[in-house]
Amino acid sequence: MFPRVKIHLQKLRENAEMLTGFLKERGIETVAVTKVFGADPRVTQAYYDGGIRWFADARMQNLKRIDPAYGKRMLLRIPMRSELDEVIRIADCSLQSDPDTLYWLNEEAKKQNRKHSIILMLDLGDLREGIFSKEELYAVADRIMHFSHLEWVGTGTNLTCYGGILPSSTNLESLRQQTELLRARTGLALPIVSAGNSSSLFLTPKAWPKGLNQLRIGEALAMGTEAAYGDRFLALHTDAFELEAQIVESRVKPSMPIGEIGKNAFGETPEFEDRGNRHRVIVAVGRQDADAADLIPRLEGLEILGASSDHMLLDAQEVGDKSLVATGETLTFGMNYRAVLRSFTSEYVDRLYVDDPGSI
Ligand SMILES: *Cc1c(COP(=O)(O)O)cnc(C)c1O
Repeated sequence: MFPRVKIHLQKLRENAEMLTGFLKERGIETVAVTKVFGADPRVTQAYYDGGIRWFADARMQNLKRIDPAYGKRMLLRIPMRSELDEVIRIADCSLQSDPDTLYWLNEEAKKQNRKHSIILMLDLGDLREGIFSKEELYAVADRIMHFSHLEWVGTGTNLTCYGGILPSSTNLESLRQQTELLRARTGLALPIVSAGNSSSLFLTPKAWPKGLNQLRIGEALAMGTEAAYGDRFLALHTDAFELEAQIVESRVKPSMPIGEIGKNAFGETPEFEDRGNRHRVIVAVGRQDADAADLIPRLEGLEILGASSDHMLLDAQEVGDKSLVATGETLTFGMNYRAVLRSFTSEYVDRLYVDDPGSI
């Protein structure tokens, strides 16, 4: 069925091998974040085969899909009160920042007679989740000590999410220092310091502060890029996911619409350049599946003109071999992070798994 995401499993396995190996040499454990591909079991397995033993997701529906035999399962989004019973039942570990939630979580763990590990999130300035002031940090720490069924295993932070604040040796050093203060105050080992996501990677080859020993990585494993500057990281594969869609119309038409221009289907007023008659194709994929701006045609000479909910229009005038853009042909597109995320949450997009050898 089309459209479909073509998933290159060997490339994903190689990304996992390469990244876990590189980070391990620097004393950093890789936690694979599965939310961009909805914790698809085949992709998760490729990561496992590539050496990943920690998996994390923001949503319980995805976390449940991960085979517990593959390793530890971590909940990334600080949990809703309504999901705490599942958090205790399914997750080995969760990121936490709210003292009331911690209290309820401990009560739930007591009820289920289970122990649950927590990582306390500290806000280093990005202003999403996490404890901000030192007074609050100590107050929360003193409370966590009394929770009989919670195992406090470390601290963590999240950067470049809301405020776009980049990781730096300064803010990461602050994470290390605050963790030291907490260790001194509580007498706990707090062995894990979870120092962010794919936006922290660019620091790992150079100024990586000692003792920061975990990263939660989604983008780099799946897309091959670090998230601070969008650059390719190491020699990771950047084309493990591709979108395939079929051409449903192919003909020569004017490039300028005829009549008075109002608003398009999304309330935008479009503008056009008159380039005369052009060969255009319509592909059966739309904004419900992936945004046109997030796709790159693989075929030389193709240019995306725009898309509505279910149709994408391309200019094919410059394509040399017009048989490649005839009705019924399949076009392949490179995808960015957002396109992968959207296509894996669209029920209209099928999945094709291939295990072709990756080329670096
Ligand atoms: C999504 C997420 C990550 C992974 O981010 P990437 O940039 O994809 O590596 C890590 N931590 C938390 C809390 C997240 O929500």
